[in-house]
Amino acid sequence: MIPVFKSLEVPKRSYLPQDFTITTWEALAPYVQQLIDFQFTTMESFSQWLSHLSELEAVISEDACWRQIKMTCNTQDPSLEEAYTYFVMEIEPPLKPLAFELQIKLDRSPFKNELDTAIYFPYLRSVANAIALYKEENIAIQADINVLAQQYGATASKMTIHFQEKEYTLQQAAKFLQSSDADIRKEVFELISSRRLEDQQLLNDLFNQLIIKRNQIALNAGFENYRDYKFKELGRFDYSVKDCFEFHEAVKEYIVPIQKKLLQHKKSLLQIQGPLRPWDTNATPKGQKALSPFTDGKDLAAKAIQVFEKLNPYFSSCIASMQSMGRLDLDSRKGKAPGGYNCPLAETGVPFIFMNAAGTHGDVITMMHEGGHAFHSFLSHPLALSAFKEYPMEIAELASMSMELFSLEHWDVFYENQEELKRAQLEELERIIDVLPWIATIDSFQHWLYTNPSHTEEERTQAWIATLDKFSTQEVDWSGLESIRAASWQKQLHLFEVPFYYIEYGIAQLGALAMWRQYKQNKEQALSNYCNALSLGYTKSLKELYQIAGIQFDFSPAYIKELAAFVTAAIEEML
Ligand SMILES: [Zn+2]
Repeated sequence: MIPVFKSLEVPKRSYLPQDFTITTWEALAPYVQQLIDFQFTTMESFSQWLSHLSELEAVISEDACWRQIKMTCNTQDPSLEEAYTYFVMEIEPPLKPLAFELQIKLDRSPFKNELDTAIYFPYLRSVANAIALYKEENIAIQADINVLAQQYGATASKMTIHFQEKEYTLQQAAKFLQSSDADIRKEVFELISSRRLEDQQLLNDLFNQLIIKRNQIALNAGFENYRDYKFKELGRFDYSVKDCFEFHEAVKEYIVPIQKKLLQHKKSLLQIQGPLRPWDTNATPKGQKALSPFTDGKDLAAKAIQVFEKLNPYFSSCIASMQSMGRLDLDSRKGKAPGGYNCPLAETGVPFIFMNAAGTHGDVITMMHEGGHAFHSFLSHPLALSAFKEYPMEIAELASMSMELFSLEHWDVFYENQEELKRAQLEELERIIDVLPWIATIDSFQHWLYTNPSHTEEERTQAWIATLDKFSTQEVDWSGLESIRAASWQKQLHLFEVPFYYIEYGIAQLGALAMWRQYKQNKEQALSNYCNALSLGYTKSLKELYQIAGIQFDFSPAYIKELAAFVTAAIEEML
């Protein structure tokens, strides 16, 4: 069912004083300690303890989120950065071991067996899993890994190029790869690539250390390799290594051919005679104007509300209430951190959307995407415990990616011109088709990396080239650029910072396509299933949540083949 929107009231606390805010660790610590010392003797007192713990978690989480929001909205105010750093350096470290003690207290309590498993099962499973993986000797190694992983960000953010007498970060420079002028694209591509190659050895050295330390963590915890350890740590209870391999094969078999066709179509639009080169794949055809869907953040919010209203007033009311509470900061401006996100605010329940909108089509997609995350926050907010709202990526990204596709038929709000509307819609499907093979490539490479932890740099390069070849459309000519291609894995932040955290996007993207197919068959039913699934937070397994959403949690070749046929038909309608 799609609920009727009700504004959220200021929550009444039952454990912490109503006016308590987090200042120092000393002020917070007694409330944590009290929960550790609490003696529950009855089921009732145990339930009360759980709800107190949940309230404390919500207050801490909302406080930490606000510190991050305020800092990213204004990076030029040093006091905001200090407030954030204070939390990370002074509050989180002493909190962590106590939070772990609370998990043990919960796990060891005989009362936990009386909780309703139809709701509590995923929560209790996560707690038991975290305890099972805990190894004292891994704490110091993990701290080293965190420091090393940060070096990747530091190295990557220092990379800039000089083009036409101006300095650009590599992210900023990427816009020139969309130019309709092939000379500009080629020059910028070469500048970016040679800048990356300058740090190739540095990043290789860094990665060598990461592999050794990660492997050690796995061995300490009693696993054969880091891949198997990480599957457990990421709480992948609903799919196996074998399922991931099936996903890779199915993407190669059924998605890569669609990508190949789209590239051929692109080539004809660009009127390129020879083969496509790596700097051509994002190019804009000559004479094509850039899409200009809105003027500023206010206009974006107003149009997004209109689009969501057409889906259901519940959705537009969510965004409107965020707007009236000052929980949308959409415009790009100086002094704002890059990127975009939806940040759930655990206590008050109304999330915050942060963006750097500059009037592009990409911003429209981001708004629809973050809108989906926001609906998930609203829908799951009524659940009793904070832990129920800590849903994994496979369902969180289903919420956001499905919303991109549900909303697509109403983008005429942004594009009055039919031609432009079609272009925008096609771009969305192209992006989906492009990302799936890349996800398979990165995931497949990681399986190799961590099941062959003693590999040499040369073997790693060969494994990467073989993986790229496996998922290649053969439409892009890399001749003369072999060394650039061989090092191209280094641009993927996830490999350094959040290992194995990637296939989730692929699973959710397939799920979103299935949701869209369902939507095209029966809109009301699909939206109702969407809301039903999201309102359950993480109180059911992923398989069950997908089922309630009306789709399968499945990435078998047969299913991917079906979805590929559906997308192909949708694309052909647009070409
Ligand atoms: Zn997202």
